[in-house]
Parts: sequence; C-alpha cells; structure tokens
Amino acid sequence: MQKELDRSEVTLITPDVPMSADIHGGRAKCLQRLIRLNMPVPKTVALPFRTVHRIAAGGVPDTGAILAHFGPQPLLSVRPSSQDPDWGGPGAILNIGMCDVRHAQLCDEIGERAATSLYLRFIQSFATHVARLDDEMFTLPDTPDHEALALALRTYEEEADEPFPQDVGRQLADVLRSMARAWEGTTARILRKAKGAPEDAGLGLVVQQMVLGVGPGDSGSGVIQFVDPLTGERQVTGRYLSQSQGRDALAAGSEALYLTRDPRGPSLEELCPEPFAELVACGERARARLREEMQIEFTLHGGRLAILDAIRVNRGSRAKVRIAVELAEDGIISPEEAVMRVDPQALSELLHRQVAPGAARDVITRGIAASPGAARGRIVFSATDAQASASRGEDCILVRRETTPEDIRGMHAAVGVLTVRGGVTSHAAVIGRGLGLPCVVGASDLRLDRKAKRLVAPDGRRFAEGETITVDGTTGEVLAGAPVMVEAALDGAFQQLLDWADAARDIGVRANADTPADAQTARNFRAEGIGLCRTEHMFFEAERLSVMREMIFADTGEDRAAVLERLLPMQRGDFAELFEIMAGSPVCIRLFDPPLHEFLPSDRQGMRSLADVLDLPLSDVEARVEALEEYNPMLGMRGVRLGVTVPEIYEMQARAIFEATIAASKRGAKVVPEIMIPLVSAMREVELVKTRIDAVAVNVYNETGADFAYKLGVMVETPRAALRAGDIAPHCQFLSFGTNDLTQMTYGLSRDDAGRFMSAYVKARVFPEDPFHTLDIDGVGELLTMGAERARDSVPGITLSICGEHGGSRSAIAFSRAIGLDYVSCSPFRVPAARLSAAQLAIADRQIGDGLEVG
Ligand code: PEP
Ligand code: MG
Repeated sequence: MQKELDRSEVTLITPDVPMSADIHGGRAKCLQRLIRLNMPVPKTVALPFRTVHRIAAGGVPDTGAILAHFGPQPLLSVRPSSQDPDWGGPGAILNIGMCDVRHAQLCDEIGERAATSLYLRFIQSFATHVARLDDEMFTLPDTPDHEALALALRTYEEEADEPFPQDVGRQLADVLRSMARAWEGTTARILRKAKGAPEDAGLGLVVQQMVLGVGPGDSGSGVIQFVDPLTGERQVTGRYLSQSQGRDALAAGSEALYLTRDPRGPSLEELCPEPFAELVACGERARARLREEMQIEFTLHGGRLAILDAIRVNRGSRAKVRIAVELAEDGIISPEEAVMRVDPQALSELLHRQVAPGAARDVITRGIAASPGAARGRIVFSATDAQASASRGEDCILVRRETTPEDIRGMHAAVGVLTVRGGVTSHAAVIGRGLGLPCVVGASDLRLDRKAKRLVAPDGRRFAEGETITVDGTTGEVLAGAPVMVEAALDGAFQQLLDWADAARDIGVRANADTPADAQTARNFRAEGIGLCRTEHMFFEAERLSVMREMIFADTGEDRAAVLERLLPMQRGDFAELFEIMAGSPVCIRLFDPPLHEFLPSDRQGMRSLADVLDLPLSDVEARVEALEEYNPMLGMRGVRLGVTVPEIYEMQARAIFEATIAASKRGAKVVPEIMIPLVSAMREVELVKTRIDAVAVNVYNETGADFAYKLGVMVETPRAALRAGDIAPHCQFLSFGTNDLTQMTYGLSRDDAGRFMSAYVKARVFPEDPFHTLDIDGVGELLTMGAERARDSVPGITLSICGEHGGSRSAIAFSRAIGLDYVSCSPFRVPAARLSAAQLAIADRQIGDGLEVG
C-alpha cells in the first residue's frame, strides 16, 4: 500500500534549521552555509535520504508540503544531494512548473521566443529523463517558435499516451520519483561505489525556486570559479551567457561574455561591475568560510544576483595539491588538514607525465598498471633496437614477452615498457618502478609476433615495429597513437605539502635504489636513506657481465677470487658513489641474490660467443650452463645459499663496501653501511656469513688502519626466517621483511607466473586482491607480526623494516605502523606518496585519539 509522507520531512532551508550532510546530503548542507553567509540563494527546500528512499520504493511524494513554500505557479528546479557530492547523482531538472498557462504569462514577461525556448527545454528534459521517452524524438529546434512547441507537445502525447502534464504538482511528483529511482538503479550503484560510496549511500533532493536569468536589464546565467582547475592557480574562470531581454537572449543574438576584462570581447566585469564584484566577494567568502575552492552557479535577473548552487571545484592532481597548500598558507585550513586533503595517488601522478584528462584514448588493450606515468614512442621489440632508437634520439616503447636482466640497458633506453606476461613484481615492473619508467605488464590479450615484428591487438589491429603507441602505466592501458599529455609538476606546493607531511609522520620512509640515478631520485624525493640496494643489477653491464661469466667458469675458490678481484674496484666505485649521493643517510646493501644461471646465455648463439671469449670448447660452455640449470631456480641456489657455497662473491662485495666506506667517509659525511643477507632460512647461515664478513672487516682494518663500523642485517623473506626470527635476531642489527619473496613462498605462488591466472583468481574472489600488489595482511601479515614480535622479544629495539614492493602502499604502511616497524622502503618514485600516506595515517590516529579524549 502506498503511504502519504510526513510533512515534517520537507525542510525549508534557513540559517538555523537543523540540517546535516548525513541526512539531507552535501548540496543541501552547502546551500544552508551559503545562506548563512548572506548569499542571495533563492528559496530552497530539502528532502532527506529517508524520504527519497521511500519515494523510490513507491511512496507518494508530498508535493503539497513542498509547493506550500513557493506560492502559486512556481517554476522550480530539483537537484540531487548525495552525502558526498563526489558520489554524483541524477542530473538536475529545471523549469518544473512550465505549462501552457505559465508559458502564456512568460510570453508577456520575457518575450515569446525566450518563453517558448524554456518550455521546449522543459518538455525535452521531462520527456527523456522523467517519462523516459526516446530522446531522438525531442531534439531542440533551431527556431523555438509556436509550431515547434505544438509539435513537441503533440509528440509527447503520442509517445506517452497522455497529454503533457500541466499540473505543477504532478510534474514535481514525477520528477522526484524518477530521480529517486535513478539513484537506486544498478548502474548508479556501481558508479558511486567506484567513487567510494557505501552500499547504503542515500540521496537527498533539493527543490529550489528558479531565477530565470532572462528578463529586463542585465540578465543571464553562468558559473564562476576562482582557480584554474588544472594548475590550481588563483584566477577567475567560468562562463556567462547573457540573456538580457530586449536582445532576445535565447535566439541567435545571445552572447557569451567573458567573465573578467578581456581584449577579445565584452566581459561581465565591465558590463555589470556591481554584480560582478558581489560575485567575487561571494567567492572569497565561500573560500574562507567553506574552506574550499568552490564553483558557483549564478544568475543575474534585472541586474540582481542569485546564487543557485556551489560545488567543490573539480580539479586535476596538480590543482589538488596547490589548492590545499594555498588554503593552508592563507590560514584557512591547518597544514595537517592540507596533508589529509590530497590523496597519495594524486601526488604520484605529479611525478610523471600523464595522458591529459579528457584526451581521446584509442585503447588497444589493458594490462597491469605496473609503473605509473604515460609514455609514447615507436614500438621496438628488442633491447638492442631500443638502444639504437635512443641513439637516434627517437623515443621508443620496448615491447617484450617479458623482460630479463639482459634487457636492462634496453629499458634504460626506452621511454616506456610493455610486456605480454608478468605481474606487479615481475622484472619489468620492478625495474620500471625503479627507473620511473611507465610500464604496463601482463597485457596477455596482445599477440606478439616477433618474427614479423608486429603486435596484434585483441580486435585484430596490427601494430608494426616503428608505429607509435602510448603506454599508460597509471591505468594499465595501451593506446594507439600519441594522445595529448600533461607534464610532471614538482612545484613549490608539492614540496611544501611533503614538508608538512614529514612533520606529521611517525614511520621512516627509505627508497629501494640500485644505481646512482636511483639514489639521486631517492634523495630528490627526500627518502631517509636506501632501504634496499639490489647489487646484482650492477653486474649486468657488458664489461662486468663477462667477468661474472669468467667467475662462474672458474674451477676453484682461488680462481674465483682472482676473477672477482677485477670486479672489486668496480663495486667499490658503485658503493662509493651511492654513499656520496646519500651524504651520510643510511645505505642498506643487499649481497648478491639471483641464481648464477641468469648471467649465462640461454641460446646457442650466445653460448658460442661465450666459448669464443673464454677460449673454451662449446661443449664445456653447454655443460656448465646445463649444470647450473635448476627445476625451480627461485627456490634453488640463490641468495645466502650462494653466500655459503660460493663465499668469494660475498667476500668481494664486503671488501668493496668497506673500502668504499673508508673512501666516502674521508671525503664527506661518516658512513655506516648496512649489509643485508638475502633469502636466509636458518640462523646458521647468518653465523657463517657473519664470520666471513667480520674477517674481511678485520683484514681491511689491518690493511688500511682506518676505523669504520658497519651493521649486518637479514632479509626475512622465507617463512622459516619469519618463524625463527627470535633465533636470527641476536646475530644481526636489523631485519628487513622482503615481502615479494615472502608472499611468493607463503602462497607457494611464483611471482613471475602469477600474472597468468591472477585476474581470474581475483575475479572469482579466491584472493581479494593480487597479493603481490596488496599485502596479504591475513597470511603474510601474520608471518610479519610473528617475525617482528619474536625478533623484538629476543632483541628489544632491533631495527625492523619492510622492503618488498608493498612498502610504498598505504595498506602496507598502515600495517607496518601497527606492528611497530621502524621504516618502509619502496621504489624511489613511490617515496613521495609513501611519505604522504604515512603522515595521513599518523594524523588520522591522532584525531581518533583526540576524539576519544574529548568524548
Ligand atoms: C623481496 O623479496 O621482497 C625483495 C625485496 O627482494 P627481491 O624483490 O629482489 O627478491
Ligand atoms: Mg627477495
């Protein structure tokens, strides 16, 4: 049974009436604030969520109670008022109340053409949005005359099987019902959920007296805002349509005016200086009191200003930062609030070029967004071609099935990377993030035809070598051609926001940096040191690779040590450079980690040239390659297992670190290097490696007489190391959780192969998210908690951190704070967002704490 609605649920918005965004929605609350600020807002009533929900469920709108506020023959608008304006809602319907009688009156008041135009617009919007008739039947005519109106009314009657409703009560009821139902529809639900709205988000509605902005004297309508929506710079932008009566506004003679003085034509500021000044004053008041940059919708009617609505200025990432910082600098909000207002994602976007918002995107396919930013360039299919392209000064996108360490130099040469296979921790993804190189991985719908040198898109389009594509590593999309881009923007506002963030944050943020360029980026982004330097990347340069290969082919420990002697000065140089760049901030160097086979050629051609270089029979090379083959190299002879069985590598690295420490400490700030052992699973591994490293330290001291200190740490990246952290901790000064391998081993899931089925798994909700992307708090997190507790029980105050790819994500930072880790370490380009996330979490905790104290 249908129910009559309670009259009290229709509230006239006045300065004092109880009104809240949680009940009536953000728009209703905002209008009340504008009224409180003495702005000329036309009479408005608000319907709360509860009422609108009942209307959607079949309740009869109490139009009598609404209309009682507006007098006879009103013209009204209805707009949505969701709790958070960003959640959207159905479009506004204007000019409710237009009917034959009202039309006749308006013909006298504002002229037939303008009146007919209004009526036609209302018929169109009512027919398509309320009666849900085919919009093609109701296109607006070029000439809004009597015939056009008669045709529209006739069409409505034929299509709707009833005459166009003439009663304002009936029109209003239908509008309210259709807007209420639209909010409950599936599409609307999905769209607002994507914007963060809860399942049961409510819709309020506001019904407002229309101020036509068509009439005697200066009349017209427009929107104005006081910042540039892309840059956030303070300046008046917007538009104004003059509809002054006498110039028969809605006909060809109507004029778009510039808002401020402009050499290109007349402006509102010149033609209507007083209302313009009032408008600007309203904008200033709104900014100061609503503590936001607002876009104001207004009309002028006979020179009188009416403020119809105000919403937060829709803004790009750069403007988000600048607006928040300037509001704080002007004392309107606190620095902490500015920090809270910018989402870390927006900050990340500023670090890279992006496809311009609104630019046309011809999407070829979608993969995993592995490293943010967009890059456009010509397609190349090999690292060598990428280098050749770079040497010609041509931007290129390196397209590979998946990348391997041998592609490193090609990646350096490319402006973006696209791989068909791989997930968020695959080689391409990790290196891409490290280099700040836009990267899309796991684009498994693409067919890569390397022989024919072309890519085949899922829709059959072919892209040959040399054709231009764009990878958007922020969205995971691969685009044909070269859409318009916006540049990176690390301006003063960006730096200021991060200074405030640092003042608020209570967990350290370091960077994973392998090269001097990475370290420089880390320093520019003010990472508090290097939390992970993966040294193996230093061995892939051509000169070093051949020495590595010689070392692998050496038969005895002495021979190996002799070959490694040649790598020593290079490693020493690497480390000295890192120490100098980091200028006394901690640098954590992880000893060699990957299986040795990664340094050997895999094809016959490569083996043949290696045999040439080493002056060995091809069969010897083949035999050694075969001997090093493993069924599962990620669980095989790598990390500390190499350190124990082929100790010469770690000894050479330790010596290089110590000698670089002495050299760098002489030149600049004192260095205390941190040496980290990877892939530990047993305490005895640490004991063995520690003994050897200590011995190297003693030797270096005896040789040089230079005093230096170092810290030894263990990477906790096997489940056993987490479980036995209590045993391991007494043998080192710090533990760092390598959550990439720890996730791989906890799930028993290869990080390089997971991309093949991850999306199916996430779709089927086997995993809520890709655990290589979002730290699995329940499982891997339990190991982290246990490891941290056991380590601290055994060595209170031991330094603990996280250095897997998760380290930069908000959820992992929140978790790291919760279990009391000292710092997180992430790719250099994620450092600013990590600093901001860490600050926001700390501020939010303090706010809850303050709330509890007050309460
Ligand atoms: C890890 O396993 O989490 C880690 C940081 O090391 P890598 O990614 O080099 O294996
Ligand atoms: Mg690892």
